[in-house]
Amino acid sequence: MASVLDLDIQFLPGVGPKRADLLKTELNLYTIRDVLNFFPFRYIDRSKFYAIGELQPAMASVQIKGKIMNLQTEGSGHKQRIKATLFDGTGMIQLVWFTNIKWVKEFLKPDTEYVIFGRISEFKSQLSISHPEIEEFQKFSAKNIQGFVGVYPSTEKIRNANINGKIFRAMVEAAFEKIGTEIISESLPASILEEFGLPNLRETYKILHMPSDLTAVSRAQFRVKFEELFWLQLSMAYKKQVHTQYVKGFVFRRENDKLLRLFYKQHLPFALTGAQVRVMSEIRADVEAGKHMNRLIQGDVGSGKTLIALLSMLMALDNGHQACLMAPTEILAQQHYVSLQKFLSNLPITIALLTGSTRKKERDSIHAGLLNGSIHILVGTHALLEDIVQFDNLGLCVIDEQHRFGVAQRARLWKKNSQTPHILVMTATPIPRTLAMTLYGDLDVSVIDELPPGRKPIQTMLLRDSHRLRMHGILREQIALGRQAYIVYPLIQESEKLDYKDLEDGYASITQAFPLPKYATTVVHGKMKPQDKEYSMQLFAQGKAQILVATTVIEVGVDVPNATVMVIESAERFGLSQLHQLRGRVGRGGEQSYCILMAGNKLSAEGKTRLESMVQSNDGFELAEIDLKLRGPGDIEGTQQSGLPISLKLANLAKDGKIIQLARSKAFDIIAKDPALELPQHSILASGLKERSVQKISWRDIS
Ligand code: ADP
Ligand code: MG
Repeated sequence: MASVLDLDIQFLPGVGPKRADLLKTELNLYTIRDVLNFFPFRYIDRSKFYAIGELQPAMASVQIKGKIMNLQTEGSGHKQRIKATLFDGTGMIQLVWFTNIKWVKEFLKPDTEYVIFGRISEFKSQLSISHPEIEEFQKFSAKNIQGFVGVYPSTEKIRNANINGKIFRAMVEAAFEKIGTEIISESLPASILEEFGLPNLRETYKILHMPSDLTAVSRAQFRVKFEELFWLQLSMAYKKQVHTQYVKGFVFRRENDKLLRLFYKQHLPFALTGAQVRVMSEIRADVEAGKHMNRLIQGDVGSGKTLIALLSMLMALDNGHQACLMAPTEILAQQHYVSLQKFLSNLPITIALLTGSTRKKERDSIHAGLLNGSIHILVGTHALLEDIVQFDNLGLCVIDEQHRFGVAQRARLWKKNSQTPHILVMTATPIPRTLAMTLYGDLDVSVIDELPPGRKPIQTMLLRDSHRLRMHGILREQIALGRQAYIVYPLIQESEKLDYKDLEDGYASITQAFPLPKYATTVVHGKMKPQDKEYSMQLFAQGKAQILVATTVIEVGVDVPNATVMVIESAERFGLSQLHQLRGRVGRGGEQSYCILMAGNKLSAEGKTRLESMVQSNDGFELAEIDLKLRGPGDIEGTQQSGLPISLKLANLAKDGKIIQLARSKAFDIIAKDPALELPQHSILASGLKERSVQKISWRDIS
């Protein structure tokens, strides 16, 4: 039998087909169930009135009372609007209607006190409320409205159609009336409700829509947040379980270690850090056990992830397999190639580099070498994904800076062998732990939380454009000491032309301040031909140029240990994680390094916080936490590409870390005890998971 919850909202009294259409397209509200699950995002105490004189735009929704001073109609036709001024003895505010003008004119009476409820907006420092909820104070107090009311999410179109909070509340009341005593079937097992003291669904809906007090609201919100996060975690736990059970991995045996041992003994110029040792043992545990490795390595810039990649690839080679390393840019791939060759120069290992600019002839010979097994390690860019690139026996794929690759691209690597190769993805964009649990919840995660010894913390300073000469002074000092410097300009798609102009102007003024023959400045940007880019990079890498002016193409992975200054122009235009990445290009040798953030004289509050955080912290994880709080999870690099539909209504990945942990440990606990969700008490979970898997997040997508 169909539940009344599935009834179309147009059949709710007061809704009708026209409003229903708008609610469907604007807010995705189709059924009564959707209405119940459409929660207020804050609550207002209706027994309190603000004084108009103390209103601030940031207050958003407020309740005030006062008398209408003056009423005027402006414009004509469909541009017509009506404006009223409300006065309460402390100040005035404008009320505006774009529709229902006739009704407003008839309804509003002079010398009458009204209760007004709505969202404040500010235009040219004049405060106003459009389409407020309005009621005569006498009637309002007669109704004895008490307690709290919810403020519902809305959109411009919804507001303009005069669908306000009052209408939402009426809709919810009508929904409850329709439901009557019909049972609202529970979506969580009773044992979970009991264990965490969660209210049941009916109660949750009642409280959230018709709250009596805020303590109850928190309790009900907790249930909703917990449930949202729990389903995410349960689906990850389940997929991970299925993966472990059904996807077998190549076994890399310790007793086969030959190259690896030789490399450790004879070719490794330094000792591994404690963190590197730990991560290697985590990798070893995966590949030794016949488990298919699907592991994320998180490590701050400069923590030595390349070495982890190298050691893991040697393991694959020792066990008769080939390995590949994919990087997001040509420069980075090139550099990996050079450093692997340097590390492995005296070992019988053939490494090839394949990028978009590899010539046809060489490309053909690489394809052949991969197929006949004479090439052991392939380093490359996206070019590596092409179908024509086939291996003899690929055992391990390493993906560097994985967030730069799309989901589909990563998935293609999995298919490069009939038996899925082990996957190691590396990222230097630290993700807060709680976010990682959600984004990469079905991957195993290793963290390199230690830098190689002897690094001096980078000194970061924030300079305004008016202090440009100080920046030049620091450059001169450092160059006199034999060091090199990067100067980076933002490049943002929409204003590409202007950005290139900035870069060109910057280059011109730098070469003027640092003229030949004493100084040499070179330039790298995305519009250059690959050969020119490489030539320019080489000039810098070999120390023939002291200054490199660049766009963010140098952001990831570039390694020139002699560079000690990173100047970031228009730093306020970069996100925190990008700034931190850029800063990571210096401080790679033993010398004191500097990061100079150049910012315009006008800065937004958020921009200021961002840049000041950079000055105060060198810790990528700490900065990631700050970034998450400043921008919210949707904007964190990596979330868009992760394939995870973050459509959480109440749970907030930035703020609800504790609930994420609770939900995660419960979900993984359940799957550990009942891997296929076969126990009768878990039948709700099995069917819930099936329903939700329509969203199709697969573990492949997220790796
Ligand atoms: P990232 O994690 O940013 O990719 P890299 O792998 O490029 O870092 O390493 C940064 C630098 O540190 C490289 O020059 C590398 O050779 C060096 N390095 C890596 N591991 C160690 C170690 N254990 N001791 C000393 N130097 C190391
Ligand atoms: Mg790297």
